[in-house]
Amino acid sequence: MMNLLEQKIESLPNSSGVYLFKDRKGTVLYVGKAGNIRHRVASYFQRAGEKDAKTLALLEKVADIETIVTDTEKEALILEDHLVKEHHPRYNIKLRDDKRYPCLRLSIEEDFPTLSIVRRIKKDRSVYFGPYPSATSLKETLKLIRRLFPIRTCRHTKFSNRTRPCINYEMERCSGPCCGKIGPVQYGEIIRQARMFLEGRNRDLIESLKKRMEEESERLHFEKAARIRDQIKHIEKVIEKQSIVSRDFIDRDVIGFHRQDHRAAVYSLFIRAGKLLGGKGFNFSSISLPDEEILSSFLRQYYREDRFIPEQILIPRPIPEKNLSEGWLTELKGQRVHILVPRKGAKRRLLEMAAENAEKFLHREADLEEKKENLLLNLRESLRLGIIPKRIEAFDISNLQGGQAVGSMVTFEDGKPNKDRYRHFKIKTVEGADDYGMMYEVILRRYKKAVEEKKFPDLVLIDGGRGQLNVAQEVFKELGIKGVDLLSLAKARRVGHAETSDEKVFHPQYKEPITLGKQSPLLRFLDQIRDEAHRFAITYHKKVRQREAIHSVLGEIPGIGKTRQRELLKYFGSVEKIKEATLEELGRVPKMTPKSARSVYDFFLSFQPPEKRT
Ligand code: SF4
Repeated sequence: MMNLLEQKIESLPNSSGVYLFKDRKGTVLYVGKAGNIRHRVASYFQRAGEKDAKTLALLEKVADIETIVTDTEKEALILEDHLVKEHHPRYNIKLRDDKRYPCLRLSIEEDFPTLSIVRRIKKDRSVYFGPYPSATSLKETLKLIRRLFPIRTCRHTKFSNRTRPCINYEMERCSGPCCGKIGPVQYGEIIRQARMFLEGRNRDLIESLKKRMEEESERLHFEKAARIRDQIKHIEKVIEKQSIVSRDFIDRDVIGFHRQDHRAAVYSLFIRAGKLLGGKGFNFSSISLPDEEILSSFLRQYYREDRFIPEQILIPRPIPEKNLSEGWLTELKGQRVHILVPRKGAKRRLLEMAAENAEKFLHREADLEEKKENLLLNLRESLRLGIIPKRIEAFDISNLQGGQAVGSMVTFEDGKPNKDRYRHFKIKTVEGADDYGMMYEVILRRYKKAVEEKKFPDLVLIDGGRGQLNVAQEVFKELGIKGVDLLSLAKARRVGHAETSDEKVFHPQYKEPITLGKQSPLLRFLDQIRDEAHRFAITYHKKVRQREAIHSVLGEIPGIGKTRQRELLKYFGSVEKIKEATLEELGRVPKMTPKSARSVYDFFLSFQPPEKRT
């Protein structure tokens, strides 16, 4: 006889949609999407005996299945994403990747394009290259390109305020379009060459340079011809050093996978124009899903609108609803994207290389985690804490040179920062340099919320001494919070460069502060958390002050209210860039009309001396 769950599976719809596995208490354990819900769900329970222990552990807990039918598979994909964010199901994998990797942007929509480093890919007319695994490697690439191709480095989008070229022109690092030293056609040729280089079309590039060199020598322009000869030599040297892994110039990500017990690692190799730029690893623990589910979830979480999506993504095994993922990626990129599972040949070898990297990455991460676990255990013992501080929240106040004071909170989970849980606080109730008052406001606001949500950290770390710690204790008492450890970390005192006292840790139950040795890994860890809170507060503080300054300047422009000020700031990022913008660029900003764009343009133009106005 069929049990209730089997009956339920039998009656599931044969259409696209989302399914939710729930336990006996109704808690959502897992959310998945499918082109055919019944097939998909049944595949979990068929041959359950062949599933690994972790998947079985999930299936054993399933007491109910809820489904939501959608008209299209794409809707199912969107709904799944929404439900995962809402329920945080324990068995769905969560990719913690808030980092934006640096890319190169070539602004071909401009008359005189330039190259810049960006971390966000916009749907504009520019061409993007990357991502590069580190900003340092990208800066090196950019430096090299600028040595090879005299592209302008300034941020000007119009050259109305220049009467002569800058030092870059003198150094032959820029061809000087700002002052008519080069016209759009010749400059366009330089951009074409730089693009060929970035696209890996080096042979074509060298051929085209050789042709130009011959033309110049035929015209008896020997100096120019010699310069091109040097350029060719330089490019050839660069090619020798490049790690070429394929000859088809296709941009592809190669996704390696390795699993060990309840852990898995995904390692993505970035291959651009046949060159291996580097890679990035991701680590998942406590997983219960089949490998193909993990890979499928990874792809959906990793690729986003503002991230570079290559033409090809190589994966080690087939994933469910591959066509759906391909369709979604194609839509995101605005160009055809293929997900391939190569079985042999060069592409398979690339996958093996990525898998090897995934395995190494997994072992490294496991070692690190073990060290972190030991560190947290030591922290508990040495600082006499009630529980192991798996989740730590740390606070800092930034009140530089008066103005708007702000507070920050950073969260460390299992010894690592979790940026999703960082918070900013604009100080609302305190004026002047009242550190205690500000700390009181921030801690009160944060933990009032925590009381409502019934979610608390294990340890709260305050930047400061006994006074700041007393403030936090007072708030906890007022709110009736118990069982959360509190500590404050006071900086070492300095006279000149010399430290006259050690850093001290204050504990509510001990009169005397605890001193950890300067070389103590525990102190280094606490310093790291405190410094991160400090960095976060300062960054926010700068942003707030910059925004206020911008709003006050923009507020003077007729027809530019708060909404347009906000949009302009979002689009350009600074007054300097707004000042530099052309009328056309200003008109592209959301909420701007031709009239308001003209108003902004004329406002900044009026500050130019008459001879520079265009
Ligand atoms: S020479 Fe002119 S165009 Fe080139 S970087 Fe300097 S200011 Fe910009």
